[in-house]
Amino acid sequence: YRPLHRNMHLLKNKAYVEGKWVGAASGQEFSVLNPADDSVIASVPDMTAPDAKKALDAASDAFQTWKSYTAKERSKIIRKWYEVVEAHTDDLAAIVTAESGKPLSEAKGEVAYGNSFLEWFADCARHINGEILSGPWPNKRILASRQPLGVVSVITPWNFPFAMITRKVGALMAAGCTCVIKPAEDTPLSALAAVELAEKAGVPKGVINVVTCSRKNAADVGKQMCEDSRVRCISFTGSTHVGKLLYGLAAKGIKRVSLELGGNAPFIVFPSADMNRALDQAMLAKFRNNGQACVGANRFLIHEDIYDQFIEGFKERIQTHCILGPGTKEGVTCGPLVNAEQVNKVAGFVADATQKGARVLTGGKIAADLGSKYFQSTLIDNVTPDMKVFNEEVFGPIATIVKIKSEKEALEIANNTNSGLAAYVFTKDLGQAFRMSRDLEFGMVAINDGLLSTAEAPFGGIKESGIGREGSMHGAEEYTEIKYTLMSDL
Ligand code: ADP
Repeated sequence: YRPLHRNMHLLKNKAYVEGKWVGAASGQEFSVLNPADDSVIASVPDMTAPDAKKALDAASDAFQTWKSYTAKERSKIIRKWYEVVEAHTDDLAAIVTAESGKPLSEAKGEVAYGNSFLEWFADCARHINGEILSGPWPNKRILASRQPLGVVSVITPWNFPFAMITRKVGALMAAGCTCVIKPAEDTPLSALAAVELAEKAGVPKGVINVVTCSRKNAADVGKQMCEDSRVRCISFTGSTHVGKLLYGLAAKGIKRVSLELGGNAPFIVFPSADMNRALDQAMLAKFRNNGQACVGANRFLIHEDIYDQFIEGFKERIQTHCILGPGTKEGVTCGPLVNAEQVNKVAGFVADATQKGARVLTGGKIAADLGSKYFQSTLIDNVTPDMKVFNEEVFGPIATIVKIKSEKEALEIANNTNSGLAAYVFTKDLGQAFRMSRDLEFGMVAINDGLLSTAEAPFGGIKESGIGREGSMHGAEEYTEIKYTLMSDL
């Protein structure tokens, strides 16, 4: 296979503030690595709080004009961005693969998925309306109008380095807000490529700014982005741990938060399920992006009547469909994990589980022949609640199986977690489908499907999985506040 650098036309090595490509005030940079072979793709500015403050200045200035664009004008600009991204899908996908490790086919899928949010929010921009309400008085009218919040701080993770940006930025732009983005340190290049395309599409300067920094400076930059008095909302996707930290900072200034945090998704299969479909969807729900997705299936709860059949089929599919290798190689379905911490975490889960009596049915090891970041697609059963792999978000290519005896037991196990993002249920029993939809304590429930995310649907979690919804009309309304005006003496 060919290294990607030569055809990465959208590769940028500067941050983006007030419509200019800039370095850090300190002159410092950090390297972005390709997890497929640990090579350096590029170096980008390692910014600190003063750089973030400048970006916030730009976003704050731009807000004064952007908020007074008509909804139609904003819609046109977002749609243009969508069109430009579509025309550059291959170039953008090459960068997504290079820095995140995912196979090119999945990177293209991410670009299409991420871009669907721009298309959707271009439409939504023209439908953010208020209400005229009847009050108790004969000579007065109550107006409830929606106004943009203001400057939004956007902090994003590495697992979907393009899509996690568009579903926030498309929405906030539709509402009339401006932003500063701090992309994950592992994947800043997709964010920079995305704003390069935004610039080509005519997004006015200052509406989107990107501040890049290494993990070392993330807390410093994050604090500025959360505590600056001009920031009205913190929109974050990432770990629950960091989400709690940012929520704390937001609390000091009574700021809106939109938090998409970790999940611990159950994948429940009952005896009436279509077994082939359940198995196909299990592969998608578990191994898409090598398990590095917050909605990824984390705990497979399989009814005892079909347990052996499910395990047999799942093992067979994993062994034949999970092809490990560099994301640029034809036919590869599972790329490297994004960084060394991920590899260590995943390996640690397997070690802890096997030591406590779990059985590895396939995989379980680092594929050292390919490189340091490759982990075999793994299936484990005999999993018990004392194992880390059962309680924590795996965020990697390990499927863990637990046998269940009844619907009641499935619900008890599924709900026994502080997370509440996505849940998957396979059944042909209509009553059971409705009961599960009602009783699963999760923000999203998929019945007989393994993929549920789309721009039209409200994505989000309950409990410690987050606050707020992304996508759908709710996603745009998150970035507005309701102003009540009383028209009196009429
Ligand atoms: P992961 O464990 O998947 O890397 P994180 O929650 O650690 O998820 O990272 C998600 C995003 O949060 C990244 O952009 C990261 O740089 C950022 N981040 C991490 N720590 C902080 C912090 N203290 N303040 C602000 N942002 C942070």
